[in-house]
Amino acid sequence: MTTLEAVRSRAEHLMTAHLGAGSWSFGFDHAKTRAGQCDFARKRITVSRHLAVRFSEDDVDQVLLHEIAHAVAGARAGHGPTWRRTAKALGYTGTRLYDGPVASELAPWIGTCPAGHEHFRYRTPTRPLACAKCSRRFDPRNVIAWERRAAEASRATA
Ligand SMILES: [Zn+2]
Ligand SMILES: [Zn+2]
Repeated sequence: MTTLEAVRSRAEHLMTAHLGAGSWSFGFDHAKTRAGQCDFARKRITVSRHLAVRFSEDDVDQVLLHEIAHAVAGARAGHGPTWRRTAKALGYTGTRLYDGPVASELAPWIGTCPAGHEHFRYRTPTRPLACAKCSRRFDPRNVIAWERRAAEASRATA
């Protein structure tokens, strides 16, 4: 657990160290399905205020380094080899913990069960899926409603 103020001061520290003072700005957003975002057009890195407070200090650093690596590598790099090299050099470890936000930010299908659990799929769901968090067995009452994510503005990368 951490505070928004701690996240902001850590962000300012890391962004100054890796991006130089004053070139990029930092803020919080209201995202629920991804931890951070790098907006190249506005030169702004944002972190989800909902997720940030659930992270440990190490998690916060990892989320920030993930986004800072986007800022350094450029929009075209995506999550490809240039971004991966850059991120690694900055100290991003990309452990399993962070696969979640990365996977979920890229998956085009977002599903929600009646209880509000979120699910992510890369392929079009072709048969009814029930929420495994609600019940281990298939239960039609927990069927997931799928929605295709709108294509994100191409210059903002999470
Ligand atoms: Zn559920
Ligand atoms: Zn990313």
